[in-house]
Amino acid sequence: MSAMLIKGSEISKKIKEELKQEIVNLKENNNIIPGLATILVGEDEASKVYVGAKEKTCKELGIRSERIDISANTTEDDLLVLIEKLNKDPNIHGILVQLPLPKHINETKVLYAIDPKKDVDAFHPVNVGKLMLGVPDFLPCTPHGIQELLVRSGIETDGAEVVVVGRSNIVGKPIANMLIQRNRKGANATVTICHTGTKDIASHTRRADILIVAAGKPKTVTADMVKEGVVVIDVGVNRLETGLVGDVDFEPVKEKAKAITPVPGGVGPMTIAMLMVNTVHSAKMHAGIKVKL
Ligand code: NAP
Repeated sequence: MSAMLIKGSEISKKIKEELKQEIVNLKENNNIIPGLATILVGEDEASKVYVGAKEKTCKELGIRSERIDISANTTEDDLLVLIEKLNKDPNIHGILVQLPLPKHINETKVLYAIDPKKDVDAFHPVNVGKLMLGVPDFLPCTPHGIQELLVRSGIETDGAEVVVVGRSNIVGKPIANMLIQRNRKGANATVTICHTGTKDIASHTRRADILIVAAGKPKTVTADMVKEGVVVIDVGVNRLETGLVGDVDFEPVKEKAKAITPVPGGVGPMTIAMLMVNTVHSAKMHAGIKVKL
């Protein structure tokens, strides 16, 4: 069997088209233009690329983008003052601080200063807590992108055996949390989380109907670790001399899988699309328009 490719590049395009129309409607019917502020501290080249891509997508979709580039020498206090100003700005519905921050700035303190109602990354503890309770205002972008990939590819999660490799706060833990929710589309699964403390990882991954890998290491999952007919979501992004690869040994695993995400072109493009979804969602919430997550 050779797997169906779950193409995030195409699915994200469709989501962005839908969003573009929604943004036109919001402007025409409610006189609202969603606004996203992106703060980049310092000169990190990878961060510049990410922020640039977010800014470009905002422009494509008709979202007001406020990009704020500040020097690596900025003090923590100055950054907190800037966030407070954006928290109060009625034209800004989403605030994103690009990570990592320079070492002299306390990342946690900065992320906690963002108004939870504008926290489109969903990293604030209020949003993490609401997600766990099953009453989220925002879904974190990469896990939300994964869930959309599953739903829009027609992959049944209800009752499925899902194994997640990785327990980070931005991927592993939130996706596990989202997939165990009871009354949600793309959820109601039985979830196992593996990490470096897991004994015999393969004994878990081989049970998976859906395997989500977010370990940050190439070939964390090889073909002998999966069962025939598995659906594989490879979140990993590893830069090798030969190019970008995920965490899964793609070619041999593809031969056993029913469906698999490529790297690049799988989960990656979904993350930015879901950031845009959250910004529009926030603009609606701020205007008192009912939103369904
Ligand atoms: P992270 O914070 O480094 O967490 C990695 C997790 O994987 C940790 O929980 C770690 O376990 C676990 N792990 C590492 N090696 C393992 C192994 N051999 N077996 C079992 N578990 C293992 O990484 P992250 O932020 O979640 O990101 C993971 C990957 O996804 C990275 O490649 C990152 O670049 C990528 N990513 C992509 C997107 C996207 O939009 N495409 C978004 C976010 C992240 P311990 O906790 O025990 O250390």
